[in-house]
Amino acid sequence: MGKRKTKRKPQKKLKDKLDVQFNCLFCNHENSIECKIDHTNKVGLLSCKVCDVSWQCVVTYLDEPVDVYSGWIDACEEVNKQKKLQALKQRERATNREDSRSPPPQDRLDPFDEDDEDY
Ligand SMILES: [Zn+2]
Repeated sequence: MGKRKTKRKPQKKLKDKLDVQFNCLFCNHENSIECKIDHTNKVGLLSCKVCDVSWQCVVTYLDEPVDVYSGWIDACEEVNKQKKLQALKQRERATNREDSRSPPPQDRLDPFDEDDEDY
């Protein structure tokens, strides 16, 4: 009767190394953005080693550094959109300045709008 020895082979951890370095949208350096996720505070942080830009967002436990990065890209695009809109508005304002006489807001109270009270 032989004892069966089950020798456990040490399994090599084939952990996918997730990208935590990305290209910076501001200075366009490659892999200069480092993403970190603070799971205890549920905050994703990223910062650029070159131009020092930083950004943070709220994350869930499912989020990974790449999600923080894509969130940053979205936020940057949003900011760019807002900037474009503001520039457009400012241009509109500049052209509308000539006829600045806008009608008064209709919030004046009617003095005769009292309840009829018969005594
Ligand atoms: Zn940068």
